[in-house]
Amino acid sequence: DAKKLGKNRCHYFSDDMMRSLDWKVNLESDLRDAVENGKFKLLYQPVIDAGEKRIAYFEALIRMANSDLSPAVFIGVAEEIGLIVPIGEWVVKEAIRQLLEWKEEGHDLKPVAINVSPLQIRQENFVEFLKEQIESSGIDPSLIEIEITETVLMENREENIRSLKAIRDLGMGIALDDFGTGYSSLSYLAYLPVTKVKLDKSIKDRFVNFEEAQVMEGIISICHGLKFKVVTEGVEDQEEYSQLLVQGTDYVQGYFFSKPLLPEDAVSFSIR
Ligand code: C2E
Ligand code: MG
Ligand code: MG
Ligand code: MG
Repeated sequence: DAKKLGKNRCHYFSDDMMRSLDWKVNLESDLRDAVENGKFKLLYQPVIDAGEKRIAYFEALIRMANSDLSPAVFIGVAEEIGLIVPIGEWVVKEAIRQLLEWKEEGHDLKPVAINVSPLQIRQENFVEFLKEQIESSGIDPSLIEIEITETVLMENREENIRSLKAIRDLGMGIALDDFGTGYSSLSYLAYLPVTKVKLDKSIKDRFVNFEEAQVMEGIISICHGLKFKVVTEGVEDQEEYSQLLVQGTDYVQGYFFSKPLLPEDAVSFSIR
């Protein structure tokens, strides 16, 4: 019987499952290699001041060198296998290095927003790490903003909020990313020491047009009531931009203005 089981063992995994296991094992080894050999890069997407129609800051978005795999995929895997901490530390250091390079080159500096995983926030020494990076580089902390998602509220809520407050005390901005995709409600917003709320593309797609425009206006005005600036993500055409402007969004980000850019293209970017 054992023999029979052994023989049949392969049947527990369908061909599709085997392929996806392979795929994951390969990605895991690519990620380890990328961490060891620094094979990541950051692209920079302009975030536009909606009223002034000029660049307010950039969002740094990670890529693996020689790969077009979405970070939405590989960051999730990096979180599972414990690589998110070294990757996240690389992101912070690289963004600061880039800011210093732009400064050296005489560019007028705009802040850079960095995406931070909830697993990083939960690290005991994360705030200390940020502090060290700010101090050793001499960078103005207001040039760095961190983007977090609502999942920081899922576990260790009190602790995470304490860390976020400490990050604010360092002088860095904090944006709540992907708002509208999670499980949390508007009432949680009041407890978060954030300076900005980024409305997810999906919420904008759902509410920007038609009769539901008032929902969008309502969300934006609640955010303003809590003294948060509002960024709308995934703006893809003029019509959406015009609507969002009327609805009171402070900043817009999306392919209509620019895709994420190489650093040299980001500093020379100007809005058409
Ligand atoms: P996010 O932080 O919400 O970033 C916005 C995503 O929307 C980016 O995808 C951006 O390229 C994309 N996007 C911008 N404008 C448009 C548009 O007009 N239309 C559409 N359809 N998409 C638009 P990207 O670069 O693939 O990143 C995906 C997610 O991966 C990010 O979502 C963020 O959650 C995560 N991520 C990216 N870089 C990092 C990082 O350095 N660390 C961590 N922890 N996560 C990161
Ligand atoms: Mg983000
Ligand atoms: Mg987002
Ligand atoms: Mg996202």
